[in-house]
Amino acid sequence: MKNFILLLALFFTSTLFALSHQPFQGGVAVINIGEFKVKPKVFFKAREVKVLQEGVNYIAVIGIGIDEKVGEKHMVAVTKNKKEHIYFDVTAKSYKKEHIKLKTNKRVTLSKVDLQRFQKEKKKTKKILKSFNKNISSNLEFISPLSGRISSTFGKRRYYNGKAKSPHKGTDIAAKRGTPIVATEDGKVALREDLFFNGNTIYLDHGEGVISIYSHMQKFAVKNGDEVKKGDVIGYVGTTGRSTGPHLHFGIILNGEAVDPGVFIVDYR
Ligand code: ZN
Repeated sequence: MKNFILLLALFFTSTLFALSHQPFQGGVAVINIGEFKVKPKVFFKAREVKVLQEGVNYIAVIGIGIDEKVGEKHMVAVTKNKKEHIYFDVTAKSYKKEHIKLKTNKRVTLSKVDLQRFQKEKKKTKKILKSFNKNISSNLEFISPLSGRISSTFGKRRYYNGKAKSPHKGTDIAAKRGTPIVATEDGKVALREDLFFNGNTIYLDHGEGVISIYSHMQKFAVKNGDEVKKGDVIGYVGTTGRSTGPHLHFGIILNGEAVDPGVFIVDYR
C-alpha cells in the first residue's frame, strides 16, 4: 500500500466552497485530493468525475448512485506523471416508499408502441447523461429553479397504481401552472424534448458530467443548443408526462448518477 494514499472520510471545510462531503447512497462525495502540478483526471468506476480547483488543491466531486453498495470505494487521480489511488466510504441511506395513483395504466404498463418510444428516448437520454463535456465548466453553485413547495423528495421507492417502478431521481416542486423555471447554473441546452414519462423536458449541460434536468413543463422557453446563464427562464411549470398535477421535477446528475438535488439546493424560493 506504500504507493497508495488513504484518505479517511474527510470533511472538506472551506469559506469559498460551500459544498460539503455527503457520501451517502444518492449523495455526493466531496474529496480534497491534494496538490497536483496540473489538473488531474479522476475516475470512479471507470467514469471520469468532476474536479474543482481551490488554491493549490484539487477537489473531486463524485455522484453516488442510489443503489451503490455501502462501504469503501476507490477512485484514481491521474496526470501525465502521477497516479494516485484515493479511498472513501459510502454510507447507507434509506428512502421511504411512495404510492401514486394515476387515472389510467398508460404510463404503468406500456403498450408496444409506447415501449418502443420509451426505449428510443432512453438510449438518447442515457448518452447525454453519461457525457463529459470539457468545453463547459461549473463551480456547482446552483440556484433554485423556481419558487414552490417540495411535494416529493429524492429517492422515494415509487409505486404507480400498486406497481413498483424505479426510484424517484429528483426533487418535485409544486407550483402554479405557468410559473417560470430558471436555469440553476450556466450551461447549454443538451436536450429539449417531450419524453414519454417526463413530459416536456430540458437537460442543461454544465460540463464535466454535471447535468440538470427539468421535467413536466407546460412550455419551453429555449431551444436545443442554446447557451443559458444562471437565472435565465428556460420554461414554464406544467403537468406533462407521468404527472398528477402541476410541478417541476428537478434532477441533478454527476458522473452519470442521479443525486439528491438537496445536496446543492436547500431552499426553493
Ligand atoms: Zn419527480
